[in-house]
Amino acid sequence: MTESTLPPFYRALLISFFILSPLTFVVLLRITAPYGRHNKSGWGPTVPATLAWILMELPAALVLPLCYVFGERQGHPVALLFVGLWQLHYIHRAVLFPLRRRGGARRMPIVIMASGMLFNVINGYLNGHYLFTLAPDDPLYQSTGWLTDHRFLAGALVFLAGFLGNLHSDQILFNLRRPGETGYRIPHGGLYRFVSCPNYFSEIVEWCGWALCTWSWAGLGFAVWTAANLMPRALSHHRWYRSEFPDYPKERKAVVPGVL
Ligand code: NDP
Repeated sequence: MTESTLPPFYRALLISFFILSPLTFVVLLRITAPYGRHNKSGWGPTVPATLAWILMELPAALVLPLCYVFGERQGHPVALLFVGLWQLHYIHRAVLFPLRRRGGARRMPIVIMASGMLFNVINGYLNGHYLFTLAPDDPLYQSTGWLTDHRFLAGALVFLAGFLGNLHSDQILFNLRRPGETGYRIPHGGLYRFVSCPNYFSEIVEWCGWALCTWSWAGLGFAVWTAANLMPRALSHHRWYRSEFPDYPKERKAVVPGVL
């Protein structure tokens, strides 16, 4: 299915997504989202960060599977694999990540949580509605042949590599705190040898893999949005590490090994 044959509402939402990504990028270069180490007052009421992460990410873990249930591809191996990859990420992000992170006493502004929820509803819908309702018109997904297509295979591998890199990098951060601690230390090992935010780098890689293996505008939109969201934040983290720790490794880049 080409972009021009998509239903009008879906098409408008998708185009807005692509237009808002560079705008988000520019805004986030100037204003760092106030949660975690960049938390500050003046952003309205707050909720405990652990609860905020669960409520913020749960919509993604619900909306795409709902699109599958109400879509036209129940039981199709290609559709099941897409649901599986998505849920691999979002069960972890919405349940395991919040419960395993340390420093749960921290709070997050409700406005950040709510914007994350809104994003996850729209993004889950854009991806799910395309894959399970609109894509059946696409000859690409008609048969199980897509599962041996080099785009699917390469994309799924990139997705899994990004997922594991994200998991490993977040684990290194968790290990820096004992239960109850909220302070920060310099992370070492794994991809931290190269960049300050390998969890963000891996997350971007992961959704690039998703874009490749779904071969969809929605998947590409998600990958672009993730980069627009996380790259400015990685630059903020990097500056913060350098100002807080005089002995911070000089050769370390912010987010893309050897580049940025
Ligand atoms: P951070 O790297 O800022 O923090 C991850 C966790 O580790 C937090 O619990 C944080 O605590 C803790 N932490 C971070 N640095 C240190 C340190 N130096 N010493 C001790 N503890 C540390 O990531 P985010 O919280 O922004 O994001 C969490 C996950 O969600 C990441 O995997 C990220 O990729 C993903 N994400 C994805 C987005 C997307 O657009 N797809 C958007 C945002 C996040 P504290 O909270 O107290 O700072």
